[in-house]
Amino acid sequence: MRALVTGGAGFIGSHLCETLVSQGDKVFVLDDLSTGRFDNIEHLPEVTSVIDSTLNQDIVRDLVREVDVVYHLAATVGVRLVVERPINTIVNNIQGTEVVLEEACRYRRRLLITSSSEVYGKGVKEQFHEDDDRLMGPTTLTRWGYAASKAMDEFLALAYWIEKRHPVVIARLFNTVGPRQTGRYGMVIPRFVTQALRNEPLTVHGDGQQTRCFTYVGDAIPALIRLMEDTSIAGEVFNLGSPECVTIEELAHRIIRLSGSQSSITHIPYEQAYGEGYEDIMNRAPSLAKLEQAIGYKPKTSLDAMLEIIIDHIRKSMPAPL
Ligand code: UDP
Repeated sequence: MRALVTGGAGFIGSHLCETLVSQGDKVFVLDDLSTGRFDNIEHLPEVTSVIDSTLNQDIVRDLVREVDVVYHLAATVGVRLVVERPINTIVNNIQGTEVVLEEACRYRRRLLITSSSEVYGKGVKEQFHEDDDRLMGPTTLTRWGYAASKAMDEFLALAYWIEKRHPVVIARLFNTVGPRQTGRYGMVIPRFVTQALRNEPLTVHGDGQQTRCFTYVGDAIPALIRLMEDTSIAGEVFNLGSPECVTIEELAHRIIRLSGSQSSITHIPYEQAYGEGYEDIMNRAPSLAKLEQAIGYKPKTSLDAMLEIIIDHIRKSMPAPL
């Protein structure tokens, strides 16, 4: 197989490239290095990398023509970026996907689009199912622009399936974590681990009772590949996550314990973290029944196991103490 991975120099993209290369695929990466880093794929000399944006339609066309399948991961992500750069977030996410869809359809290349559990918004349910209603906050709060941009990507992808019978599959990722994820744009686990390893206070937002189900990247990648490989699947949306949920407060305690840190925990109001009027999502857990039925998905990595791997990775990448 020849595969194009947009956003291939990002955290999830780089793990996908690694697996595709290891199974003998020829991999092309398109990445504008906005949040991705060339270092993430430097160890994969087999990969052909093009540093450019998915908004550059000529480049996207040239690359799509070269491959059999397209994994579209490129997007503006991370609560911090979404809040600080809302124009960039909306334009990149919607136009970028529009370009990739148009070119994949032109050359009839099978396409997998990564979406986000953010599309469920602030709906309150024990588990979110793929066809559940979505509850979005007001347009005056920038954070909802990201959720809406990802939902628009899904609508457009499904429209290509309905109108043109173009085979697209959508994976809604739930808080994917693992080595190489950076805390720079807000993601909680790399932030807490770095704070713990520096024996600094862990900054829990709000009362810490919000929950998340963290998905290990090593479980997510084979699922993405299976969804791409199973050509009987098209025009479908799948949750891709983990059944193990944790409050952010408990997450902080676990990271302190597993890293042997001396850190304390401090609570930061949301306004201080992300500015006035920020709304968090209190609970977000996936129903995984559809994915399990389609590809036999069963995540293997427990929260403690993934935290240990991440702690080890960040510890090794930190400068040695003087
Ligand atoms: N969070 C936190 N401290 C941090 C960064 C994040 O308490 O330093 C919280 C954040 O407010 C949210 C949860 O951790 O409730 C997950 O945040 P992340 O940005 O990783 O993912 P998302 O909000 O997209 O689920």
